[in-house]
Amino acid sequence: MHLRYSYRIYPTAGQRSALARTFGCARVVYNDALAARKQARKDGLPYPKSTGLQKLVITAAKKTAERAWLASVGVDPLIQSLRDLDTAYRNYFDSVSGKRQGRPVGLPRFKSRKDNRQSLRFTRNGFRIRGNGKLNLAKIGDVRVRWSRSLPADPSSVTILLDPSGRYHASFVVDVEPSHLPELDTEIGIDLGLATYAVLSDGQVIDNPRFLRKAEKKLRAAQRELSRKAKGSKNREKARRKVARAHAKVADTRHDWLHKQTTRIIRETQAVYLEDLNVRGLGRGRLAKSVHDAGWSTFRRLLEEKAARYGRTVGIVHRAFPSSQLCSQCGHRDGPKPLAVREWACGACGVLHDRDLNAARNILAAGQADRLNAPGGPVRPGVAIPHRARPDERGTHLGDLPRTDVRAAGAGGIPAR
Ligand SMILES: [Zn+2]
Repeated sequence: MHLRYSYRIYPTAGQRSALARTFGCARVVYNDALAARKQARKDGLPYPKSTGLQKLVITAAKKTAERAWLASVGVDPLIQSLRDLDTAYRNYFDSVSGKRQGRPVGLPRFKSRKDNRQSLRFTRNGFRIRGNGKLNLAKIGDVRVRWSRSLPADPSSVTILLDPSGRYHASFVVDVEPSHLPELDTEIGIDLGLATYAVLSDGQVIDNPRFLRKAEKKLRAAQRELSRKAKGSKNREKARRKVARAHAKVADTRHDWLHKQTTRIIRETQAVYLEDLNVRGLGRGRLAKSVHDAGWSTFRRLLEEKAARYGRTVGIVHRAFPSSQLCSQCGHRDGPKPLAVREWACGACGVLHDRDLNAARNILAAGQADRLNAPGGPVRPGVAIPHRARPDERGTHLGDLPRTDVRAAGAGGIPAR
């Protein structure tokens, strides 16, 4: 199982300019290869092979006057850049053919110097961790790392990232064995909300941290300041950094919080069931800010990753499942309830329900039913695996595992509309 471990790194001024040069070269190589592929397609020629492209845009290009500077940086990140282009094409083709699930993937696009994130990947040949804890990158030098936690094994690659706030991170990919926790009997359903972050079917309530809302005031002030600065000025660049830093701080705090919550849930529970919320759809609406703040998709991804690692199960209940309309006591379908309705009495059995707790209980029942009805019987622990982690994502990720959502038509025996 591939996991990602990310650390802040502190390159010196000299190393920063070497990195900037390498970012630039990797981008040019990527764009040249993309242009060559587009041209081949235009000319009706076969899709150029990676080895041929590598010769063309790296080896041969170095010998030309206009690309001679490619020789001044390490070759490893340049080759990785071409691999990224291959992956981008593969994702596109798989998306078109339906092999890849989720959001449709477009054709690879040219990279720009102005892109928000710059990244470089080094494989085993391109980096080393020194005895003194520094990270040696080929042709860059020994970079200081803040080891916030220890690496569990030798990493197979490292990605160097520069974010818009000017911070550098090293993200290592490490291959580790899953370490299954002792099995438990507990299973829970989780209802994600806005008033409270989540309500669990056992009655636990996770309060909404609203980090973003609190930090928003600060952000708004920083943004106002930015809008007043003249375009292209030094002060504008400074103000832009300030905005980016404020955003980054909120994101980090949220990420830590989500890690803590998901670790606790996975430790205490054998199986977790969630609703398949259409976060992308919600994210565009009026609730956008709160949804974004809440980080539901990250919450789900972290649960799925940790479940796979520790031998737990995450089941996803279809979003058409009317979790807030059903009575969890008698199964009566009571009809839609506006968000403002926090409590309601069942029209059939008369039980008074807390809206979210009732929904969590319904999600638990539907998830358990789905699991029993799933093709091939109850699913094994840890088979509900998320989509492939993008190489540029930070945090702890799983690598190349197939996506097999626990999902069946008519969730919980209730016909999906
Ligand atoms: Zn009822």
